[in-house]
This record gives sequence, C-alpha cells and structure tokens, in this order.
Amino acid sequence: MNHSPLLLDGNHLAAEIRAELREKVRKSGDSPCLAAILVGNDGGSESYVSHKMNDCAEIGFRSKLIRFPESVSEAELLQAIEKLNLDGSVHGFIVQLPLPKGISNQTVIGSIAPHKDVDGFHPENMGRLTLGLPGFVAATPWGIMELLHRHQISVSGKHVVVVGRSNIVGTPLSILMSRPGTDATVTLTHSKTRNLKDICLQADLIVAALGIPGFLGPDMVREGSVIIDVGTTRVPDSTHPRGWRLKGDVDFDSVAPKCSAITPVPGGVGPMTRIGLLMNTWHAFNSK
Ligand code: NAP
Repeated sequence: MNHSPLLLDGNHLAAEIRAELREKVRKSGDSPCLAAILVGNDGGSESYVSHKMNDCAEIGFRSKLIRFPESVSEAELLQAIEKLNLDGSVHGFIVQLPLPKGISNQTVIGSIAPHKDVDGFHPENMGRLTLGLPGFVAATPWGIMELLHRHQISVSGKHVVVVGRSNIVGTPLSILMSRPGTDATVTLTHSKTRNLKDICLQADLIVAALGIPGFLGPDMVREGSVIIDVGTTRVPDSTHPRGWRLKGDVDFDSVAPKCSAITPVPGGVGPMTRIGLLMNTWHAFNSK
C-alpha cells in the first residue's frame, strides 16, 4: 500500500491554538506572565527560550527572562527560583535545561513551587500525572496528545509503542496514553529492549523519542500505522544558510508511504510542545 499519509501539521495547529489563546487573553482583560531562567550561552537553549518569549508576546502573555552566566552557583540559582516562587506577578516559570555540570537538575526542579512549575517536571506534578490528578503535564507529551485529539486519532484499545523512556517525553507520555479515558495499551521501550523491530511491527501507533536521527525505518513500521516523531537532532546541511537542519528519529521519506498519518520534522511535535508551555501558563494564571 503506497499512498499519501495524513500529515500531522503541528505548525498549522499551533497557530490555530495560539489564536484561540490570544482571544481568551484578550477577553480576560489581564495578562499571564511566564518567566524563564537561562544559564550560559548554549545556542539551542538560547533559541528555545527566545521562541518561548516570542510566543508569549504573540498571544498577549507577559514574559521575563532571567539570565545567569555558565559560572552561576547552585545556591544563586535556588535563590532566583525562590524569588520567582514568591513573586505574585509571575504565574509560571521554567528553568531551561540542560544546566552546567555541578548543578543538580533534581535539586533545581524540586525547588520550583509545584503550582508555578509550568514545565511539569516537579516530582509533585509527575506524581499527579501518574495518579490522574490535576496538575501540570510536561509540554511535549501534552502536545502529542493534543495533536492526536485535534486530528480525531483515537488510541483507545490500540497498541502504542513508545521508543525512549526519558522523564520529559517517553515516560509521561506512556502514562498519559494508558490512562482510563485514553485507554491505549502501551509498550515503553528503551536501549535495552530486545526485539524492538518485532515490537514496533505490532504497533498501531509508534512514538519515536530517542534522539537518533533516521532510526525508525520502513522495516519497523506496519502498513497503516500512525507515526509520531519527537526527535530533533541538528545534522550538518551545507545547503542550509546556518549549516545544519533538524532531523527526526524517523526516516520520513521511506516510512511515510507505509503509514496512515505522520508528523514531519520540523513542524510536527516541536510547535505543539511550545503550545503545551503556553497552555500550562494559562492554567497557572487561571488558578492564581
Ligand atoms: P533522552 O533523555 O536523550 O533519552 C533517550 C531515550 O531513548 C532513552 O530512554 C534511551 O534508552 C532511548 N534509546 C536510546 N537509544 C535507543 C535505541 N537504540 N533503541 C531504543 N531506545 C533507545 O531523550 P529525550 O530528552 O526524550 O529526547 C529524545 C529526542 O527528542 C531528542 O532528539 C530530543 O532533541 C527530542 N525532543 C524533542 C522535543 C520536541 O518538542 N520536538 C522535546 C523533547 C525532546 P535508555 O533509557 O535505556 O538509555
């Protein structure tokens, strides 16, 4: 079966949701505020944070960027976090990862007030997610669920294979997918999984979130399955003005003809992840 799959266009959907949010903000007559702590000058982190700040401006959120040099100490960071925890004008904030060596991600994330943890990484929010209680869901899993929901792709009773078990993507997504109401049967796989190809061939939907460009080939994909590509690796590309481009974990050209729906990279999960953060900030603002 060679055909054109449904392209799950995250850019288009994200623009639609931003317009909806902009309208809600306008009607509220007030503006939510998202703050970001950025440490050092890593190109990737700089660009992620600047996208987040631009998204805020576009929909009428306020935003605040707090920068620290690479040499910042953990104590200084914790002090800045405590200030944001207590600042009533800031509804939610994030600490852009990765952090420099010597600073504990867990200590930093654990010091964010859970009700302002719009990245959804705090143990309390992860616990709430696991128990099905209200709380902030990490932006990428949220974005994937919304992308499927808005394209009316149900996973109820279906076999979902998630490749990659990170705390920010694979693990929370596998929990969300298997919850009552969503009802997928989930297999969460990782680098020690044996027979990954056979497992993938049994999937109705595969989420590739491992960070190895082009990993998922057509030999791992069943005809008619849905493919969600989370991977975003910078690969050299001399035809591009900046010398690189983003490549997903799926070999798009060879896999697309086999599946019923697929996300492109870029322009699939990435823009929906950005929406997840805005949504969480909007919820933080409304529960202030
Ligand atoms: P991560 O923390 O780097 O973890 C990678 C996961 O993949 C681990 O669980 C690892 O298994 C598993 N893995 C590695 N090699 C494997 C293999 N050969 N077979 C099966 N599993 C394998 O992952 P992440 O932070 O979730 O990022 C994954 C990718 O998504 C990256 O490209 C990242 O840039 C991208 N990403 C994109 C977005 C977006 O918005 N589009 C958001 C977040 C991340 P072990 O646990 O056994 O080591």
